[in-house]
Amino acid sequence: MGIEAAVWGELVGQSSAVKVLAAAADAAHRLDGAARSAMTHAWLITGPPGSGRSNAARAFAAALMCAEGGCGECLDCRTTLSGAHPDVTVVATEMLSIGVDQMREVITKASMSPTTGAWQIIVVEDADRITDQGADALLKSLEEPPPSTVWILCAPTPDDVIVTIRSRTRKVALRTPMDRDVAALLVRRDGIDETMAAHAARAAQGHIGRARGLARSEEAREERRRIMQVPGLLTSVGACLRTAEALVAMATADAERRTGELDARELAELKEALGFGTKGTRPKQAQAALKDLEDKQKARVKRLQRDALDRVLTELTTWYRDVLSIQLGVVDAVDDDTIAAIGLINAGMRERIRQAAECSTPEQTIAKVDALLEARTALEHSVAPLLAMEALLIRLGGFAVVC
Ligand SMILES: [Zn+2]
Repeated sequence: MGIEAAVWGELVGQSSAVKVLAAAADAAHRLDGAARSAMTHAWLITGPPGSGRSNAARAFAAALMCAEGGCGECLDCRTTLSGAHPDVTVVATEMLSIGVDQMREVITKASMSPTTGAWQIIVVEDADRITDQGADALLKSLEEPPPSTVWILCAPTPDDVIVTIRSRTRKVALRTPMDRDVAALLVRRDGIDETMAAHAARAAQGHIGRARGLARSEEAREERRRIMQVPGLLTSVGACLRTAEALVAMATADAERRTGELDARELAELKEALGFGTKGTRPKQAQAALKDLEDKQKARVKRLQRDALDRVLTELTTWYRDVLSIQLGVVDAVDDDTIAAIGLINAGMRERIRQAAECSTPEQTIAKVDALLEARTALEHSVAPLLAMEALLIRLGGFAVVC
């Protein structure tokens, strides 16, 4: 079926990646018996967040599993796409990392023969989060892959995966999809009206999931509006500190909201499994299991909080990017015709952005974009969120940081 196969339909603006994957799937269908070892057993799909890495991985898996090369409708396609196919394992983590124990589990799965399908497929959605020890274990499996096993690793860039693994994979790069492609997908797939789809796609800067969230949720749009107020609030060091605290609180509340129900359910399930309520005393093992769960839940909230702060940084970057466009004359500051409006990501805030552009220099704006990038790195390296945000906002406010 090649690139026409239905399964590739959601990968908007990725024709060159789709061509490679569809051709590989077609070739794989022609292999049998010993010839299967000719299939590339390890793939690395890279692309910026929201570009559709995990969609691409699942679509590729479905194209391999489906007798039609990815019809999108048969049982193999549907179960592969939904993550329910017995021969397709999807490893995703809500934690900050994928450890050696989790990797060993999937490596065992990878070493088995497929039960129903032609291939045993392992998709690792966050290959950049595999720990060094986990990577060592994985490496052995990649060096001597069973003939029917296919690994599909996903990461933002090839550099995010350690070199020994990277060098054993065939790389497929997704790019940031164009706004108009994302908008068209929202209209076609999610039934969102054209104006809203265009607005959301523009604000989300090629992040498909984010665009969908903005288009469908007034709450998400309100959160974005609040974030876009931040540059105007940074009038004193005190104001910067207060705003940092408010942003961290917002991110924490967001993380807790997402995880609250799940936490309670997991705890109830574990207690039931341990037989709580039926015995008077808690054996040591039960205590340890509860502690493990508590640690896991804490790590999950931490990751979600960090993800929420990362979104704040992304949104703020669009503001300074707009300010810089006006300062450099790339976008007309006053002309409000459609073409100029397309030039700004936050066209609705043109007047405020124009004022901000007038009160600073391009050099200062570039320094602020640098500060945002450094804050992201700091958060990735586990700097305390409040500290990272305080330092950032003080710099964005144009106040000197004294260390
Ligand atoms: Zn199918």
